[in-house]
Amino acid sequence: MAGKKKSAKVLRCPTCGMLVQHRDEDFPFCSDRCRKIDLGKWASGVYKISSPVLDPEVLEDLGGLGGGQPKGDRHE
Ligand SMILES: [Zn+2]
Repeated sequence: MAGKKKSAKVLRCPTCGMLVQHRDEDFPFCSDRCRKIDLGKWASGVYKISSPVLDPEVLEDLGGLGGGQPKGDRHE
């Protein structure tokens, strides 16, 4: 039987990597706090790829604080 159904649209918070449901008011962030943190990163230029010192891997690491792998399915 193909009884596998996805309950709701879930994404990971870009700031802390926590699972966030689509109906959450702060989606795609888990909270207003994380949203402001993310906006702060943009404002402070963390996401700007203008500095040759920052490698793409470093940027990716900054965006995955506390998060594991970007895969959403944990049981296939
Ligand atoms: Zn968060």
